[in-house]
Amino acid sequence: MNETKPAPANFIEEIIEEDLRTGRGDRRIHTRFPPEPNGYLHIGHAKAICLNFGLAAKYGGLCNLRFDDTNPSKEDPEYVEAIKEDIRWLGFDWDDRLYFASDYFERLYEFAVQLIKMGKAYVCDLSPEEIKEYRGTLTEPGRESPYRNRSVEENLDLFARMRAGEFPDGSRVLLAKIDMASPNLNLRDPVIYRILRVPHHRTGRKWCIYPMYDFAHPLSDALEGITHSLCTLEFEDHRPLYDWFLEALGIENPPRQIEFARLNLSYTVMSKRKLLQLVKEGHVRGWDDPRMPTISGLRRRGYTPEAIRDFCERIGVAKANSIVDIALLEHCLREDLNRRAPRVMAVLRPLRVVIENYPPDLVEEMEALNNPEDPSMGTRKVPFSRVIYIERDDFREDPPPKFYRLAPGREVRLRYAYFIKCTDVIKDENGKIIELRCTYDPETRGGRAPDGRQVKATIHWVSAAHAIPAEIRLYDRLFTKENPAEEEDITACLNPKSLEVLTDCWLEPSLAGAPVGAHYQFERLGYFCVDPDSTPERLVFNRTVELRDSWAKIEKKGAE
Ligand code: ATP
Ligand code: MG
Repeated sequence: MNETKPAPANFIEEIIEEDLRTGRGDRRIHTRFPPEPNGYLHIGHAKAICLNFGLAAKYGGLCNLRFDDTNPSKEDPEYVEAIKEDIRWLGFDWDDRLYFASDYFERLYEFAVQLIKMGKAYVCDLSPEEIKEYRGTLTEPGRESPYRNRSVEENLDLFARMRAGEFPDGSRVLLAKIDMASPNLNLRDPVIYRILRVPHHRTGRKWCIYPMYDFAHPLSDALEGITHSLCTLEFEDHRPLYDWFLEALGIENPPRQIEFARLNLSYTVMSKRKLLQLVKEGHVRGWDDPRMPTISGLRRRGYTPEAIRDFCERIGVAKANSIVDIALLEHCLREDLNRRAPRVMAVLRPLRVVIENYPPDLVEEMEALNNPEDPSMGTRKVPFSRVIYIERDDFREDPPPKFYRLAPGREVRLRYAYFIKCTDVIKDENGKIIELRCTYDPETRGGRAPDGRQVKATIHWVSAAHAIPAEIRLYDRLFTKENPAEEEDITACLNPKSLEVLTDCWLEPSLAGAPVGAHYQFERLGYFCVDPDSTPERLVFNRTVELRDSWAKIEKKGAE
């Protein structure tokens, strides 16, 4: 027998394969993605989603979606729905395994009572400030609370009365009785329940005490039979606490926690708190603003699930934090869109061109390729007539060296149409160019001259009489600093030019009725997609990404 199996792709797969070999965790693989519904998902979450759902799929296991909703003051059902939609859009499915930590409140309460009965938890009356002070520091051990040795009976009574609402918020907490001298601060009698009179998005006013995340999280995993509990590195120091709870409560086959590095992207902030700040303070138009690194923002910008999944695959998982270049994400996107996006012609900054020797009433249908990368995508007809728009940038009255596009007396090729030559430049009273006069060579239909003469440039165009108007939004990086999270105030390094709105754009008529979300390559200009702000009268497009990484070019030039 010579079976070849692909090698494990990363250290997590190595651990999983070892566990499957040794029989740890029943030889099952069961993961979960556990978002807190306190904001929209971002590209970092996509990494965790691809990892958890991907591992389950690869090893024939299951992956749950569980909302870790233990902090009612920051949570909202709006976020629950948005998170579900984003995970589905990314291409993953939790089937009927949708859970909420709040579903376990009663059982978590019972776990806490069990700890009290074992003498492993106690009610403490110190104020939050005192608790902090008693905890000590990294260099100094903590001190034991004067309430640490309350009797089990007294603790049971007080905890029941905390639940019954007899005490004000913050007046008492339930602590795990572990070790005030532990070098790991998480083990110095951590809070496991607090009093908080805030209605919960699912349990309403039923509870006025809530479990802390560190208590709820490992036990929710255990209740769901999770075998591998994957989380980001900052939870490494919490693992001994999670293991302490699981052991104290006698959980069989406890989940194994494995930490991996979180995704950071250059020129991007990834914390939900900071993203919320951008939304609340109006620096962006909302969570789904196409400049946001949220899944909904990326979707609106025109990112595809395939590109995001490919990106997550390529970055892999590692044990060390790093910052991934956003250019890699854009590269994955271009690769995907290059395959699937139909090519069309659109003019963003129009300059009117009158072709003087073209018959005024003639309209010709020019045959254009929908995608040179994929002939199966076929061809379409693009109307051509006497008055067209070209890109303002494609003309220079006084062309610098190496500018090969249109200029007075010069001939260029119109994509899929004819050679034209500029014969005259019309200006308004301020000297602004408002129109070009050109002639065309009827012998060059399809873009080739029978006499073999060459032109150095091919430019795109739309027929003025047939074009449809559009608004086009161009985006740039939201931040000017590579690592904005390092700044004291992220708003100080916002890029003032991150959004440019062009309102006088013209599209070839085949784009009429393009549905929201549809992707196109506008020839020579980049990839674009239809924004939900579009109306039947007026299409709105977002530029998803330029055709090439213009930043890399500029930065290289700067370095030369
Ligand atoms: P943030 O720090 O952005 O506010 P969070 O960790 O508080 O995020 P959760 O809702 O708790 O957000 O995250 C759900 C899951 O996604 C967790 O398992 C978390 O470890 C993972 N996750 C969050 N951010 C990233 C990231 N940047 N890279 C990889 N995984 C992440
Ligand atoms: Mg978290």
